[in-house]
Amino acid sequence: MLCFDCPRACGVDREKSLGYCKEGKDIKVAKIIPNFKWEEPCISGQNGALAIFFSGCNLRCSFCQNYDISHISKGTQYTPKEFRKLLESYDLTKFSSIDLITPTHFSSALIESLQDFKCPIPIVWNSSGYESKEMIKKVAKVVDVFMPDFKYFSSQISQELSACPNYFEVAIEAIKEMKKQKSNNIYENDILKEGVIIRHLVLPGHTSDSIKILDAIKENIDNPLISLMSQFIPLYNSPIKRKLYPLEYKIVLNHALKIGLNKGFIQDYSSADENFVPDF
Ligand code: SF4
Repeated sequence: MLCFDCPRACGVDREKSLGYCKEGKDIKVAKIIPNFKWEEPCISGQNGALAIFFSGCNLRCSFCQNYDISHISKGTQYTPKEFRKLLESYDLTKFSSIDLITPTHFSSALIESLQDFKCPIPIVWNSSGYESKEMIKKVAKVVDVFMPDFKYFSSQISQELSACPNYFEVAIEAIKEMKKQKSNNIYENDILKEGVIIRHLVLPGHTSDSIKILDAIKENIDNPLISLMSQFIPLYNSPIKRKLYPLEYKIVLNHALKIGLNKGFIQDYSSADENFVPDF
C-alpha cells in the first residue's frame, strides 16, 4: 500500500522504499520507559506513563532533543500484532497512561494494532501536530487523548527549522479536528481520561512567533487546555545555539494570560536541563 499516513504525502510503498520519515511499514520502537514522570501531571499522574518513543519522525526538526531516534532511527520493529502483544505484556493498571511519543508516521499500523483494544488506562497521542485531518478522524477511534505540539506560525521559520513551509496551515486544521473528536476534557482521579492538550515550546529568539500561535489558538479553539513549555536546550546540530531567556518565556506567558488562555500548564525553568532528555 502506498503511504499517505502524514501530510508529506510521499506515496511510497514502505515495504520497498522509504519516504521522508525513512521508516518501513512496521512499527519501530526506540525505547520504552515505564513510569515516565516528565509529562504534564494529568498524563504522568502518580504512577507515571508507559512512554513509548517511536523511531524516526515525519517532521525531523533540526533542533530535535531526541535526535538519535528521530533522525538516526535506532529501534526494534514490530508488526501491528506484535506491538499489541508488547503492550499487553505490561500490567497497564500500574501506569497512569500510555504515552505514544511521535507516532504519526506509524498511524496506519498503530490504528490496526490498537483496534478494539480494551485498555484500562488512557492512550495518549503525543504528536508533532503535522498530521492530516482525515488521519486524525481515524486515530480518534483508538486513542483517548490528543497531545499535539503547535510549533510554528511563520512558514519561513517552519521551513528553516523543519523543512515544512505549510506546518501552520496543516497543524491548525489537525488540532481543530482533534478538538472536534475529543471536545470535552474529562478527568478521573486527576488523570485526563479524554481530551486535548495543545503544547507549545517557546523557542529562543522567536517570541513573536509564539505570540501568533497563542492568538491562533484563541481564535480557533474553544476552551483550549495549553501547555507552555520552556525546556529548549541546544543539542546536536541545533541551529539555535542558546537556551530560552526567562524574560522571553515571561513575555509569552503574559500574553497567554492577557488573552485569556489561562487553563493548562506552565513549565519550571529547572527542566531546561540535559538530564531531562532521555538517553537513547
Ligand atoms: S508517513 Fe513517512 S512515508 Fe508516509 S507520507 Fe509521511 S513521511 Fe511519507
